[in-house]
Amino acid sequence: MKITLRKVGRSPLHFEKDRDQIKLKGFLQYDKEKLVVLDAKLSGIVVTDCAVCGEEFELEVDEDLKFYISDGVFIDEKNSMIDVVEAKNGELDIDELLESEIELIKSDYHCCEFCEMGED
Ligand SMILES: [Zn+2]
Repeated sequence: MKITLRKVGRSPLHFEKDRDQIKLKGFLQYDKEKLVVLDAKLSGIVVTDCAVCGEEFELEVDEDLKFYISDGVFIDEKNSMIDVVEAKNGELDIDELLESEIELIKSDYHCCEFCEMGED
């Protein structure tokens, strides 16, 4: 699912994408200075490996995502230090975004409930 940034206006453009047991749901909206804001919630289950015992387990995810998307190269002239993602070909690929968020979660340190109990 790809969204053309030029088509995103001042009224929120809602999107929803499921993959396995996880869902990305939110909206895109034109903000200012050629930036589109993405405001979404990532929720569901990610199957990942426990950092301690190495066993696969189901991790519950409930995260808010908010960042800006620039149609092309973004130069932060005002040094506003905001999170900006540069979109390729003026498009935002929701599938790719969901995929990379899942990978990001998996790359974090997580341990299963059994190991968590053992650590206390
Ligand atoms: Zn474990």
